[in-house]
Amino acid sequence: MDEEKFDAIVVGAGPAGSAAALTMARKGLSVVLIERGEYPGAKNVMGGVLYRKMLETLVPNFWEEAPLERPVVEQRMALLSERSAVTAGFKDPALGEPPYNAFTVLRANFDRWFAGKAEEAGAFLLPGMPIEDVVRKDGKVVGVQAFDGSELYADVVVVADGVNSLLAKKMGLRGELRPSEVALAVKQVISLPKETVEQRFNIQDGQGVVMELMGAATGGMVGQAFLYTNRESLSIGVGCLLSEFVKTKKTPYDLLEDLKQHPFVAPLIEGGVAEEYTAHLIPEGGYDTVPQVYGDGFLLAGDAAKFVNVLHREGSNLAMESGRLAGETVAFAKERGDFSAATLRRYREHLDAGFVLRDLHQYRGVPGFMEHNPQFFNFYPQILNEVARDMLTVDGVPKREKERSALRRVLRQRPALRIARDLYGFWRAVR
Ligand SMILES: Cc1cc2nc3c(=O)[nH]c(=O)nc-3n(C[C@H](O)[C@H](O)[C@H](O)COP(=O)(O)OP(=O)(O)OC[C@H]3O[C@@H](n4cnc5c(N)ncnc54)[C@H](O)[C@@H]3O)c2cc1C
Repeated sequence: MDEEKFDAIVVGAGPAGSAAALTMARKGLSVVLIERGEYPGAKNVMGGVLYRKMLETLVPNFWEEAPLERPVVEQRMALLSERSAVTAGFKDPALGEPPYNAFTVLRANFDRWFAGKAEEAGAFLLPGMPIEDVVRKDGKVVGVQAFDGSELYADVVVVADGVNSLLAKKMGLRGELRPSEVALAVKQVISLPKETVEQRFNIQDGQGVVMELMGAATGGMVGQAFLYTNRESLSIGVGCLLSEFVKTKKTPYDLLEDLKQHPFVAPLIEGGVAEEYTAHLIPEGGYDTVPQVYGDGFLLAGDAAKFVNVLHREGSNLAMESGRLAGETVAFAKERGDFSAATLRRYREHLDAGFVLRDLHQYRGVPGFMEHNPQFFNFYPQILNEVARDMLTVDGVPKREKERSALRRVLRQRPALRIARDLYGFWRAVR
């Protein structure tokens, strides 16, 4: 048995793990950051919107050195029917300049760089090392065991191994994810010349657009699709609750192919070359599914703790923030010389007081609401398209008649009281 002991072991070099390792290494702790992939980011998937604020807290002016794609200056939302789209959006070119709000990224590049920052700060990166379990002594976590049986020891283990968190399962903190609390997403990167990207999305060098698509974009299933601009490529993908795929027997691959052929999307990706195809899960169960995130000798961060705000497409920022708070908590525990749950509970207190768990708590009703109200993903996008088409068609019919006929069209398909109930339900879920 190798008796060398670190202050902390971090399992998983995604945004959560690298943030935790960086924070602890900067505070002078001895840290090993363990990653199963050949290099950090090798297998990691994200639509690709990375928010500025949380990373800036860790790496000031990171945009001067990080491998980013484009600063996001415009966010669009499109509700698709089979042929058409109702769209809305917000654009501010000022968001393309410091201090920025968000960037598109490709995770293979970004994660490698971010883990490198933890290394620069003094963390020891160990790639290609899948961890199978934690090591316990007297009921306390004291290290980890790799698949090859070797063991490493530390005062604290930060579990940041993502949505499937083998370690959290082995520790009895989580069971398997229920199909209604996890989305299966597929993504393709499609390369296009830089000028083509900029012309098609009406942007300039150093500007990016992100677009969320609903309705026919997911075949009416509970979920969402996306199309983001990178420097010389587009990221396109679609994700739906796993339970929806089970119910409809549709495959994610077919959904993505349908999306690419939709008349609203096809011209945007035309002539592009598909570079890579990836699939990944997203934990969407929200606040009520968050497991115990601390205990004697361990902390859980990021997707492993199910920190994803599905309504706002936020995950990487919650991962970084929870990783940073985990790192600070371990440093505090080190000062005290006490790594028991009684000290590490401070982590949960910080999460509760900050945006991570306050936002998830506010939206705790959203996952259940989405699951049981598929009309927001099929009926409403469809009817909005029909009404928009009617109202915008200039055909000599007086506007008052058009309004009445639009109202009749809506009420024929969904009575007023049900619409009122839908809106009330949504309001209750997000307030
Ligand atoms: C299609 C898609 C689109 C998304 N879009 C966005 C978006 O636009 N914006 C956003 O903010 N979030 C988005 N998310 C969510 C975001 O990707 C996650 O919330 C975020 O990556 C979580 O970070 P993490 O560090 O907790 O986990 P991960 O990024 O999953 O990292 C976990 C790491 O642990 C490693 N690992 C796993 N098991 C082991 C093991 N046993 N031993 C050693 N290492 C292990 C993995 O290889 C990985 O490197 C998206 C997710 C998906 C799937």
